[in-house]
Amino acid sequence: MFGLMQQRPRLVSSLITHAARHHATAEVVSKTVEGPVHRYSYADAERRARRLVRALQRLGVGQQDRVGTLAWNGFRHFELYYATAGMGAIGHTINPRLFPDQIAYIINHAGDRVLFADTSFAKLVETLAPRIAGSVGAVVMMTDAAHLPELSLPAGMALHCFEDLMAAADEDYEWPEFDETTASALCYTSGTTGQPRGVLYSHRSTVLHAMTIALPDVMGLRAADRVMPVVPMFHVNAWGIPYAAPMIGAPLVFPGPHLAGEPLQTLMNEERVTFAAGVPTIWMGLLQHLRTSGARLDTVERLVIGGSACPRMLMEAFSDEYGVRVDHAWGMTEMSPVGTFNAPKATNADVEGEEGMRRRMKQGRAVFGVDMKIVGADGRELPWDGTSFGDLYVRGPWVCSAYFREEPDGLSHDEEGWFRTGDVATIDADGYMEITDRSKDVIKSGGEWISSIALENIAVAHPDVAEAAVVASHHPVWDERPLLIVVPKPGCRPEPEELLRHFEGKVAKWWIPDGAVIVEELPHTATGKLLKMALRDRYREHYLPDSGAAE
Ligand code: ADP
Repeated sequence: MFGLMQQRPRLVSSLITHAARHHATAEVVSKTVEGPVHRYSYADAERRARRLVRALQRLGVGQQDRVGTLAWNGFRHFELYYATAGMGAIGHTINPRLFPDQIAYIINHAGDRVLFADTSFAKLVETLAPRIAGSVGAVVMMTDAAHLPELSLPAGMALHCFEDLMAAADEDYEWPEFDETTASALCYTSGTTGQPRGVLYSHRSTVLHAMTIALPDVMGLRAADRVMPVVPMFHVNAWGIPYAAPMIGAPLVFPGPHLAGEPLQTLMNEERVTFAAGVPTIWMGLLQHLRTSGARLDTVERLVIGGSACPRMLMEAFSDEYGVRVDHAWGMTEMSPVGTFNAPKATNADVEGEEGMRRRMKQGRAVFGVDMKIVGADGRELPWDGTSFGDLYVRGPWVCSAYFREEPDGLSHDEEGWFRTGDVATIDADGYMEITDRSKDVIKSGGEWISSIALENIAVAHPDVAEAAVVASHHPVWDERPLLIVVPKPGCRPEPEELLRHFEGKVAKWWIPDGAVIVEELPHTATGKLLKMALRDRYREHYLPDSGAAE
């Protein structure tokens, strides 16, 4: 027997129609590429998204066609999110910080028919154009006629101006209803560990994810908040915030390309932002600006940090010096992205001091909808004791079941369908997960595992160290041994021996790296993460007898 409740599909368009109807005057504010602040309401945004569908149709975009975007966080990008998904097409956000070769690969792999780009990417579009001409038939610059740059594109690739297309389009479109499992958006992994892979979200997964991230023990969004996604809309849909904020009716404040400390702080105060989300690097920049300028954050109550591990000092500094709570979250492109969020439970909410901090530094506990398990080298599930660490697997309705246009390779999922995250983690008795490493970065010494992240955290606590990486290097006896690579702070010249002594008493003796090298800088990925693959390749033979560097 079926329940007798209405069957309404969970469609992305319902998020913006809800906002337009029930939060019609709530603002969407954008600091534009051109500089001025643009503001309008959810009702305006919804109307323009419908108009944009008509413009997309004119460009030949139909059901399930892919529409690429190279764009910052702003109102036109927001309209594209809703126009593409709402009409049953697929918005494909592209990370402009990737190498042009990778971007061209991604666009061709996705089969984008039209490419929308902010004017700041005009040169990049010119570079890409000859390589994507087989797929992309039209480029739309996301600006008005007055700011339209000159572009030389290959024959057959049309150039359009966003606002001209909008002016020529009608507003008569009505959002259609279709199956909620229809694909809605596409995002490629940043390729930290290989070729970028496409993750194809559905309407159902997107709406369910949005409902979850708004919950009190996750981002805790309220209509009275003013929400700033600093995390880019090309980075896993800005963690779902452009969907969750309209659902809640919370005004949105988009920072555009202005992501340095000073412009962020100014916009936050001017627009009375209460909540913002982004990666650690962004908040480091903001903190530095606050400290050097003496400026304050007038209205910000909460920051969410994810994408890589939140440094302890960031959590402490924002809370102690600026009264801003910092919460730690974990996820990945393949998970829409949120998997865990670190919120207290009744049993630990009052625990302060070192123990409380230890708990808050973890990546958090699973949100409803996501289940997790950790698995040891023998394939067996490990206990939740906070110390056993193994490969982290997840499952849930917003976790990817396969990659776009790839045959299942049997590696990304286990036989029960759990997704292999590629992270190595512990889970404690209260269900808090802590990442100890990326599985490719774990150092396997004599059959035992050593966490590179644990060692890096100790290294960066040394007063002379600005940044540190620990990678596996081949060893004739132990198979692999940890090697410490350090970028010193300006003006500091630490001795390798002294850096290694710094580990004594903090980890088991056999965890201590066998050597340390000092470098001027470390390689990073397009999303600001350490590029361990490059370091591993470079220092693979450091400990081997004929490498000339063995200790
Ligand atoms: P990629 O996997 O290509 O780097 P993602 O943006 O999907 O791109 O990154 C997901 C990965 O980022 C996770 O698997 C994890 O290793 C790392 N990550 C995300 N959030 C955190 C966090 N809070 N702490 C530590 N690592 C994190």
